[in-house]
Amino acid sequence: MALPSHDTLVSYPDGATVSTGTVLHVEPLDDGLSAVILDTTAFHPVDTAWPDQPSDRGVLRGPSGEARIERAVMGGIRDGALHLGRELPVRTGTEGWTFVVAHLVDGAAPAEGESVEVVADAELRAALCAGHTACHLASLALDGALADSWTKETPRDALGHPAFDQLAIVTSRIHEHGSIDTYRIGKSLRRKGFAPAGLDDLDAVAARANALLADWVSRGGRVRIERDHDAITARRTWVCALPDGEVRIPCGGTHVDDLSAFAGIEVVLERSDVDGAIELLMTTTARMA
Ligand SMILES: [Zn+2]
Repeated sequence: MALPSHDTLVSYPDGATVSTGTVLHVEPLDDGLSAVILDTTAFHPVDTAWPDQPSDRGVLRGPSGEARIERAVMGGIRDGALHLGRELPVRTGTEGWTFVVAHLVDGAAPAEGESVEVVADAELRAALCAGHTACHLASLALDGALADSWTKETPRDALGHPAFDQLAIVTSRIHEHGSIDTYRIGKSLRRKGFAPAGLDDLDAVAARANALLADWVSRGGRVRIERDHDAITARRTWVCALPDGEVRIPCGGTHVDDLSAFAGIEVVLERSDVDGAIELLMTTTARMA
């Protein structure tokens, strides 16, 4: 059957972990897995360009039985060819491409045209939701804790603080109930007005960030994902009610519904000095209520 010509519709941004869809395409892969593409899915794939939230795990059930979904990756289709995961050379949403969720299935793959059920591991999903929400809050808290370390006018974050996280981040990895973010503070960040002396007393920076996090968690606040379309390419926004107002951050992942889900969120900061630059590691841990 021909490759799909429409972007996959996704329901995980609304919190779904179970969905029923039609098999549009099955492609056997070299490693014994098969890539299964459906018209619609609740299964969160890891993004290729910004792989912050890992893939769901789960099962696919159809007329021919049940198969394990090892993971799901982004697929891109152009000129009749399917590019999967790391082989996808463009960002999700690039003009001229069709973007799909490719479920990498171990075992008997379903047949094209069949109706199948996808079930994502709900416990893993909930833990990743907690980790992702905690990650966003920690980045805002870090920006707030470093707000006095800037000497020039700088782009602002969703809370109005200089956007240290956005300007310095190298990688962000979400895991169950937490995340690890790495930042690089080199010449270009200093030219933008960041004074590295602000990182001399890291314990004080972490204490300020943790005080902000404790305040936000203690007050609770609704969290939701806004989007204007169900296609995986639609722009999605994380919206969270904080004491100083609603904050909005572009985000392709999944989240808790309310900050009251947490008993606490804490960050630990570590630095290392490499070739005249500073590498900062922020480890975020969420405790559930
Ligand atoms: Zn996000």
